[in-house]
Amino acid sequence: MENTIALRKWLDDLKLAHPLVIAGPCSAETEEQVMGIAHALKDTDVNYYRAGIWKPRTRPGNFEGVGAIGLKWLQRVKAETGLKTATEVANRNHVDLALEHDIDLLWIGARSTVSPFIVQEIADALKGTDKVVLVKNPVNPDLSLWLGAIERLRSANIKKLGVIHRGFSTYEKTKYRNIPEWQIAIELQSRFPDLPLINDPSHITGQRDLIFDVSQTALDLNFDGLMIETHTNPDKAWSDAAQQITPERLVQIMRDLRIRKETD
Ligand code: PEP
Ligand code: MN
Repeated sequence: MENTIALRKWLDDLKLAHPLVIAGPCSAETEEQVMGIAHALKDTDVNYYRAGIWKPRTRPGNFEGVGAIGLKWLQRVKAETGLKTATEVANRNHVDLALEHDIDLLWIGARSTVSPFIVQEIADALKGTDKVVLVKNPVNPDLSLWLGAIERLRSANIKKLGVIHRGFSTYEKTKYRNIPEWQIAIELQSRFPDLPLINDPSHITGQRDLIFDVSQTALDLNFDGLMIETHTNPDKAWSDAAQQITPERLVQIMRDLRIRKETD
């Protein structure tokens, strides 16, 4: 029977279950918070533990991340739980520090993908890395910016490259925080069929009640993985409180999702 799940080469090599699951808080807040969530996710389907250390806030005056100290907390996560670690990088200094602290997965955020200068700086800093590098779609529905970022990273010989679809901002009020515009992600996948495609239902929905449905749609569309913001006390989170779910809810969602098997 035809293999309908085209798990991409480097993902195959990592021998992780399908779908790839990246989970953890929007922001690292305190060492206790980071460790508490990590221990709650330890024996679940989660492969990579995410936490934002440097937070790119659209407007100033909000929590902007704990900074480099958070990298030490992520190192502790890996040592104590065995979870691989992931954080957002937005300039050369972030990349250098993340690599120094042996972070396993670095992602480029939606507000960075819009800037060819910053993407090029990050690509140069990452040249030849064997870390996983994921590039989120730009905040606005501009396929070319997303393609351009991928081309810059590809030219830097990043072998484990993938993309994250996190939806697009719109001036109109909709039920989503960022409208999915699924066709843009599908078009991108058709241009780069070898790149793993991860869905981020947290930033698409902006509200925890819609996470399951968007995750299911992504899996039905053959996405390779999910990035889901998870917090032990979501309502008290220092960023993106409305969209974070508890570790218990994440386990339930992963159990209830219909996951296409290779023989479907
Ligand atoms: C995040 O992942 O917490 C984040 C800031 O996401 P985005 O770049 O998609 O807005
Ligand atoms: Mn967030």
